[in-house]
Order: sequence, then structure tokens, then C-alpha cells
Amino acid sequence: LKVIRTRAAMREYARQNAGRIGFVPTMGYLHEGHLSLIRRAKAENPLTVVSIFVNPAQFNDPADLEKYPVDFARDTAMLEGEAVDAVFAPTREEVYPNGVPELRMRYDALMDKLCGAHRPGHFEGVLLVVHKLFMWIMPRRAYFGLKDYQQYLLIRKMVYDLEIPVEVIGCPLVREADGLAMSSRNVRLSAFGRKQALLISRALFAAAKVWRSGASVAETQAALHSALGELEVEYALLCNAETLVTLTGSEPRPEKVLIAVAVYVEGVRLIDNVLLP
Ligand code: AMP
Repeated sequence: LKVIRTRAAMREYARQNAGRIGFVPTMGYLHEGHLSLIRRAKAENPLTVVSIFVNPAQFNDPADLEKYPVDFARDTAMLEGEAVDAVFAPTREEVYPNGVPELRMRYDALMDKLCGAHRPGHFEGVLLVVHKLFMWIMPRRAYFGLKDYQQYLLIRKMVYDLEIPVEVIGCPLVREADGLAMSSRNVRLSAFGRKQALLISRALFAAAKVWRSGASVAETQAALHSALGELEVEYALLCNAETLVTLTGSEPRPEKVLIAVAVYVEGVRLIDNVLLP
């Protein structure tokens, strides 16, 4: 595992390995969700580069940034275990030498939905850092988890509109054996919170079953909300998976529906979704 710390060194590695790199961007504190992306990248590319960078530009809540788990030794051991070729782990100064620039890339319609509606500036920060990473690493393919479905849509769109020569690949959401969506933030939950968090995937699966049985938007919404019980819900809804427009029931049944949830458990923000059919 080659550890790369500067963008100059990253650019040099990219120049030497042009056209051969599969790239997996992460914020570290790796888990099986990340590893599934890494394994896919390994299978499809001669070289795999993973980035670890907790991007301050995408944290709208400073306390959330402060509490984001970090363990570089643990992460590199996991990357060694997967025989990853290189890890790019720059400092904040390296990524933002003049501070976070004012540049804002926005998709008004897509960013006004779901997480974008509740985390001002979040996706602008994501697009900024992913664009920078793409320019340094020049990957042939880049792998993103569908756990962050809205993020995946936005990155795909940015790459298309800016004609960045990267193939963006969406990878299935990975869950714990009991159904909880894997997340670096899960370690912040107590045993009790961990149990409460199980309601999220259970509610999603219950709602998906109701929807698949041919029930209406209202019936599916009701099933979703009742299964979430007492959880502190930020949003829990059905939307058109292409546009992220919330379903009201008056539209024709879309081809692809996303049921998406964001909740707070013990102050930790957790998201999850199912994509139907
Ligand atoms: P993060 O480190 O949380 O920014 O995630 C880095 C990448 O891993 C993103 O593309 C995420 O969508 C993906 N990812 C995180 N958790 C999961 C999961 N449970 N299943 C699949 N992909 C995931």
C-alpha cells in the first residue's frame, strides 16, 4: 500500500498510471460498505486508489465534523488486507490551501430534495471535493455507494455535464446482518441506540413490501411512518428515483421509486433507503 499525502505526489502517481486507476473516495473509518466498493474497483481495474479525507466543506454541522470517527492505522490495515494499491490521504491544508473556495456547484432541483433540503451547502461541498479528487487522480472509473443515493445522482450528473472522462459506478447498499445500513457513524451509537436504529431498515422493508403489493403512496407512507415509531424523523418519504420529486399519489406510478429515510438517533444522523422495483 502506497501512502500518498500530497497532491503533487498524487498527480505524479496518476500521470504514471493513466487509464488504469479505479478510484474509491471515502471519509475513512472503513467498514464492509467501503470494502464492497474497493473489491468492485479491484475486480474492474489494474490499480485501485482509495482516498481518505474528512471533507470540512461538506459538513454543515461543525459538531458532526468534530465527532466524525478517525483511525488511520485501522483504515490502512484494512486497505492492506484488500491489497489496495494506493491510499490518498491529504491534510485539509493540502486540499484547501487557501481555505474552502467560494465556488459553488449547484443543481437547484436535485439539491433541494432529501438530504440537500436539510443540510445547506452539503452537496456543494461534496461536488467540490469530488471534482478536485478527480482532477488529481484522473481515474478511469469511480465507485460510489447507493446508500448515499442523492450523492450518487449528483456526481453522475456533474461528471456528465462537465464531460469529465470518468465512469461513475453505483454500488449496492451494504447492511449489517440485522439490516442496519453500514455507516462510519454507527460507532457513535450506544447499545440502546443501536437497537433503536434497527427500526429504520425494518420500516423501509415494511414500506417496500406494502408498495410492492400495489398499495397507494398514502398507504405506503403510513406504513413507513408507523414503523419508524418514536424515532426523530428528518424525512421519510417516497420519491421518483430519477428526479427525487416526492410522490403525492396523483402522478402515474414511476418506473423506479426510492423510499428514503433520515433520522436522528442519540444525536447521530442516520440515512437509509430502498430502491424499487
Ligand atoms: P463515506 O466514507 O461515508 O463518505 O462513504 C464513502 C463511500 O462509501 C460513498 O460512496 C458511500 O456511499 C459508500 N458507502 C458508505 N456506506 C455504505 C454502505 N453501507 N453500503 C454501500 N456503500 C456505502
